[in-house]
Amino acid sequence: MSISQLASSIVDSPTLRLNEAARLLKERGLPVIHLGIGEPKNKTPITAILGAANRLNSGEVKYTPTDGTPSLKKAIIKYTEENYNRIVEPENVLVTNGAKQSLFNLIFSLVDPQDEVIILAPYWVSYPEMVKMAYGVPIIVTPKDGSFYPRMEDILEAVSSYTKIIIMNTPNNPSGMVYPGDFIAEIVEFCENKGIYLIMDDIYHRLVFDGLKATPGYQFTKKDIESTKVIVTNGVSKVYGMTGFRIGWVIANRRLVQVMTNVQSQMTSNPATILQYAAEGALNGIQSYVESLRLTIENNRNVVMQELRSFNGIRVNKPQGTFYCLPDFRAYGEKSIELADFLLKKALVVTVPGTEFGFEGHLRISYSGTVKDITEGIERMKWALDPESPREIYIGDRKMVRDWL
Ligand code: PMP
Repeated sequence: MSISQLASSIVDSPTLRLNEAARLLKERGLPVIHLGIGEPKNKTPITAILGAANRLNSGEVKYTPTDGTPSLKKAIIKYTEENYNRIVEPENVLVTNGAKQSLFNLIFSLVDPQDEVIILAPYWVSYPEMVKMAYGVPIIVTPKDGSFYPRMEDILEAVSSYTKIIIMNTPNNPSGMVYPGDFIAEIVEFCENKGIYLIMDDIYHRLVFDGLKATPGYQFTKKDIESTKVIVTNGVSKVYGMTGFRIGWVIANRRLVQVMTNVQSQMTSNPATILQYAAEGALNGIQSYVESLRLTIENNRNVVMQELRSFNGIRVNKPQGTFYCLPDFRAYGEKSIELADFLLKKALVVTVPGTEFGFEGHLRISYSGTVKDITEGIERMKWALDPESPREIYIGDRKMVRDWL
């Protein structure tokens, strides 16, 4: 079989791969704890369910405009005004099949072969692969000081005449870091001056803790939506816990939205009609829903921190947002893939190897699940790795004795 060079160079999504490994173990009746998954346990907001159900009941389920229904776009415009203090027009909004397609459309529509896209490590796994899919070159910038975001000097060193885009994700998957406002301000100013697009992936922007706020990139530019280089992607997956609904959006200048609409029209057409009505229901519904999800996750964050602090050898920065943290496990092994495999095999706990996010020696732990899963999962990890932890543990109803440390 002859597969194209480009397609064969694209790696699978490690999180989806791990989900599959965990599912197979679960199917065999094993008590797997999934600390790898990136979705909250909440029930879908009722207004979203009603939005979808009403549309389904009407029997009117046809194509919509490729760029989204006018009423969902209106809800997104209102969301943008309330959350970003920016007034945009329907022509500045493109509704997509999840934020993933928003990012893909953007990269595909902006990148010529050999153009470079700067990605700040640790980064979400899909960015480099999407850049490669547009025949672009991902340029990874890693913080030199061991922290969770690179400094401006590091970014400037990576910029070249081929730099087309910088992608920024705050709060950050996988670190849980909320980038400081002055750092964002520096990048926005730099991008506006140099004519480099700045994609702000804001998918977690309301899942922040300790009274913090994620600073929007728009705050640091006086340019209007037609001339700014700042582009925002967002969606209902995380903030409303509606991962399965697959609705995201982009806010950008008209020309770019038009081009991306053409791309999307040749690829998927409109996002599923029913799901657009669900997203509209969520955006127009009671927003206290988001706050209660945020509070649950903040509580989970506190639990995960408490558990990890008593884990000898682990170094962890307190996450300020998202539902992930990225502890340093180098005390137990440099190779995160081996470590994650070991934990899955011995302790039946799923974590995601840091190397997938450009951060070797770390493991991403998700605290989007239940408190029970978090405490039990980390207890099992301690048992598998920390020689000072008790040698015996119950995994499900089986008593296990550690015989390797
Ligand atoms: N950006 C980041 C940083 C994410 O973590 C994810 C989902 N894991 C996405 C984008 C894509 O979100 P969606 O489910 O809306 O496609």
